[in-house]
Amino acid sequence: MTNQPIDRVLARLEAVHSSGDQNWIARCPAHDDRNPSLSVGVGREGRVLLKCHAGCDHHSILEALELSPRDLFAEIPEEPCATRVEIVAFAWHRGAVAAA
Ligand SMILES: [Zn+2]
Repeated sequence: MTNQPIDRVLARLEAVHSSGDQNWIARCPAHDDRNPSLSVGVGREGRVLLKCHAGCDHHSILEALELSPRDLFAEIPEEPCATRVEIVAFAWHRGAVAAA
């Protein structure tokens, strides 16, 4: 699970506090933030959501974190597709697909 985008982002932030389930508050890297004002959340499919309450735009926050927009999305590796095909093939052998 350490390869999740949220882990990449949290590892780069300072003064991270949990503010609820899948929500954090951290010091915004894009401005001189003494009172943590960056909201971090996890959206659909593990996507990282960033919002600076002082008004920094998304691009400046990413730039300060040295991340690209791609880094906020969960990677879609080749492997799970292959695994899914194998699972379907296995299920088919057992007659589960025909039954479904
Ligand atoms: Zn900011």
